[in-house]
Amino acid sequence: MKNFQIIRTLSSKSAVTTIAKESSAMFIAGGTNLVDLMKKNVVAPDKLIDISGLDLKQIEFLTGKVSIGALTKNSQVAEDKVIQEKYPLLALALAAGASQQIRHMASVGGNMLQRTRCSYFYNTDMPCNKRNPKSGCGAIGGSNRMHAIFGASDSCIAVHPSDMCVALAALDATVFVEGPKGKREIKFTDFHRLPGNMPEKDNTLENKEIITSVEIPNNNFSKHSHYLKVRDRTSYAFALISVAVGLDIQNNTIKDARLAMGGVAHKPWRLTEAEEFLKGKTVSETTFRQAADLAMHGARSYGDNDFKLTLGPNAITEALTIAASK
Ligand SMILES: Cc1cc2nc3c(=O)[nH]c(=O)nc-3n(C[C@H](O)[C@H](O)[C@H](O)COP(=O)(O)OP(=O)(O)OC[C@H]3O[C@@H](n4cnc5c(N)ncnc54)[C@H](O)[C@@H]3O)c2cc1C
Ligand code: SF4
Repeated sequence: MKNFQIIRTLSSKSAVTTIAKESSAMFIAGGTNLVDLMKKNVVAPDKLIDISGLDLKQIEFLTGKVSIGALTKNSQVAEDKVIQEKYPLLALALAAGASQQIRHMASVGGNMLQRTRCSYFYNTDMPCNKRNPKSGCGAIGGSNRMHAIFGASDSCIAVHPSDMCVALAALDATVFVEGPKGKREIKFTDFHRLPGNMPEKDNTLENKEIITSVEIPNNNFSKHSHYLKVRDRTSYAFALISVAVGLDIQNNTIKDARLAMGGVAHKPWRLTEAEEFLKGKTVSETTFRQAADLAMHGARSYGDNDFKLTLGPNAITEALTIAASK
């Protein structure tokens, strides 16, 4: 690991001003992903701008929405009683991620910007278009059990590994950022991107921008929400497939539905067609199975991950069934 310098900043404005002057600098929050990447020489910044001391750690319940500071720890959000009551999907997704120790260090902004867990990306001896553009993709035709079944390209079939982000995509969150050109907001579902022919770019954040907060509008899904995570171990493992569900059910009829999947694409994968199908339908296993089959249209596997084509609809059906029965 290369030597580096740490610069501490105490406001988002000074963080942006400081990073704008540097040619090889990165923000560091909890460090739970970035330090691993540095140890493996996947990234090698000269300077780290430490933003962990910024005053962006509040969870504020405002009229019609909640605002969560980008430096709020994953554990703080997951354990917040009002989040658990009003946005249980978010609390469940966060609690399903990593381990309690990592959740104590990991920040909301860092979670959104964590890199893929594709093993070729972490191995600098292997080809990887995401780490080293135009070097090839080791996973296509290689070991790809964890990889994408939706939205992949000939350049990259990696998935975004976050659990929290799947819930935020389902809940129509908005990301607030600040950069040298000022402040702006990005719809959560537009924040992460598909790989196309530029897999090195995970998201739509511009160079030198900092995430300051995330907002979630109030919803009617608190009674019938579920986050189902299928993984190799019941703890401390990334999702093979996950499903985030929010249902608004009145008199056994689905008034509104939200559905998103993790572990299947380069970004949290929102299932809007299946959501539309569910609206107005009576709760039943047949309806849930039909929605799941609809959601899987266009899925494509790459060998080791063929099982996801069967696991996917089963997981969606089960997540819907559990959410409806709460
Ligand atoms: C063993 C292990 C298991 C894990 N399991 C899971 C899991 O099951 N599910 C899951 O979802 N996650 C899992 N994680 C990932 C973990 O959630 C992330 O590492 C963590 O959320 C990253 O947050 P951080 O604050 O530590 O980010 P850092 O490591 O500090 O930063 C990550 C990236 O974000 C950038 N950054 C951080 N904050 C900001 C900001 N506010 N604005 C702009 N850029 C910023 C940094 O420059 C860096 O590029 C696991 C991690 C480990 C090590
Ligand atoms: S899937 Fe993406 S991250 Fe993995 S080796 Fe291919 S280009 Fe790299």
